[in-house]
Amino acid sequence: MTPTPSPASAPAAPGTVWFVGAGPGDADLITVKGRDLIARAGAILFAGSLVSEAATRWAPAGCEIADSKEMTLEQICAWLIAQARQHAVVVRLQTGDPSLYGTLIEMVQPLDAAGVPVAVVPGVTSAMASAAAAVESFTLPEVTQTVIFTRVAGRTPMPPGEGLAELAAHRCTLCIYLSITLLHTVQAELRAAGWPEDAPMLVVHKASWPGEEKILRATLATVKDVCRDAKVVSQSMVIASPALGARHWPTLAKSKLYDASFTHRFRRASAPPEESI
Ligand code: SAH
Repeated sequence: MTPTPSPASAPAAPGTVWFVGAGPGDADLITVKGRDLIARAGAILFAGSLVSEAATRWAPAGCEIADSKEMTLEQICAWLIAQARQHAVVVRLQTGDPSLYGTLIEMVQPLDAAGVPVAVVPGVTSAMASAAAAVESFTLPEVTQTVIFTRVAGRTPMPPGEGLAELAAHRCTLCIYLSITLLHTVQAELRAAGWPEDAPMLVVHKASWPGEEKILRATLATVKDVCRDAKVVSQSMVIASPALGARHWPTLAKSKLYDASFTHRFRRASAPPEESI
């Protein structure tokens, strides 16, 4: 059936603005879905300071590509809205995952108001890339089963109850974003929560960036000096966790999932389970 041509005066429905997580730096860490959207995009706006330009390597010929480095939030939204009126697929490339410290909602609200549809594609957040770089597990049986993504107060204050000392009282894994220049505060808060001076810490600078990644191991006592000596002052994940370094521990409580005595959906226990996972 031949589609009825729309009258020339009718405005075309706007395209969709896709907020795509570009991953932590290595362009290969974008999702297949994100890469496919880039390959179909009529316009791409990337965050110049953090997202590697390599992430735009799959853009089609003729695609409008811009860097938002020098744009205000209003200019970013105006650009996205204007492009969505011309193209079916518009991509806003965000560093890591768009749901973490990425001004997602501030950008979505004006698009909603302009009647432009939005969708989000998740990305590998820098905390996960840092764990991978250092071959660490953020959860270990009988050590910690909880991960907190947080930061210390910078220009953005922390809401009541979310001070690092309060969160650190849980003695779980803490992935501390946006705080590499505030290590004195990180140290003070962990000390206030009673973490020992020899508590292991990990700092990963530019996790996954080819040739630029730095993995620094330290303790609560040394973390600031270790970073200063390595000249690591930006784009770093600070991790405090009782599970750090477990690769070299002589004894480890084993996960119940692979325990021969544990029955689950895919395998019968060879002995009665002592407890569930
Ligand atoms: N949405 C991003 C976070 C943006 S906030 C994400 O999901 O990763 C910026 C902070 O993220 C930086 O201050 C730093 O703490 C962290 N970060 C971003 N990229 C990083 C990388 N490649 N390596 C280490 N930390 C990184």
